[in-house]
Amino acid sequence: MALNLIVLGPPGAGKGTQAERFAEHHGLPKISTGDMLRDGIRQQLPLALLAKEKMDRGELADDETMIGIVRERLGRPDTTVGFVLDGFPRTVLQGRALDGLMCDRDTGPLIVVDIEVPEEELVVRLAARRICAACGTNADPTDASVTCRRCGGALVHRADDDEAVVRERLRVYAQESRPLVDYYRGRPTFRAVNGAQPPEWVARELEAGVAAATSASSGLPLGAQG
Ligand code: AMP
Repeated sequence: MALNLIVLGPPGAGKGTQAERFAEHHGLPKISTGDMLRDGIRQQLPLALLAKEKMDRGELADDETMIGIVRERLGRPDTTVGFVLDGFPRTVLQGRALDGLMCDRDTGPLIVVDIEVPEEELVVRLAARRICAACGTNADPTDASVTCRRCGGALVHRADDDEAVVRERLRVYAQESRPLVDYYRGRPTFRAVNGAQPPEWVARELEAGVAAATSASSGLPLGAQG
């Protein structure tokens, strides 16, 4: 059975870091719609360039574009083992579209983990965040290095991590994405984890949450899966 995971959470919650870690550990493709858009902008792709203005203002790109991008990506063969989605869905409409795609795929349940972090901490984290200009990897915030540990590229501040844009992204999150958390909350495959703790602890809670959600979805007691 495939392991299909979406990692929800506000900007700065650590979705990217946790999704990457989980994906590496389980041999799954990590699919980040933000990374895909930034890659597309670097390559001057028309769809990504259209989304750029909205990204720069802290707004969401339009649902149809994002659903199209994810539909295409989930159609590739590397996702037959499952996937870790980071940054998608972000609206209830995107969530409904993903449910439709999951029905068509019929590869196993959709596990949903929400990383919760108080807003004041998010603003501080985003102000300090740096990413690699070449490959998009998030830098370790405790590491003072100026180059990417993965590819050696220069670490830069993300344009949309400036304070005014951050406030707008948090407002958009509350308006568009919090209803999505409520959309999933009642499902047996939903788990919330505390993101206001060191990344290793969050990773441990995430692993435990996914295991519990997977068991709950199959009706087996915890730990009874092979
Ligand atoms: P992220 O790297 O996930 O924080 O995404 C950066 C920006 O890309 C967001 O602030 C949005 O403008 C855009 N974006 C990424 N994913 C989505 C999505 N699923 N729906 C709409 N806009 C998105």
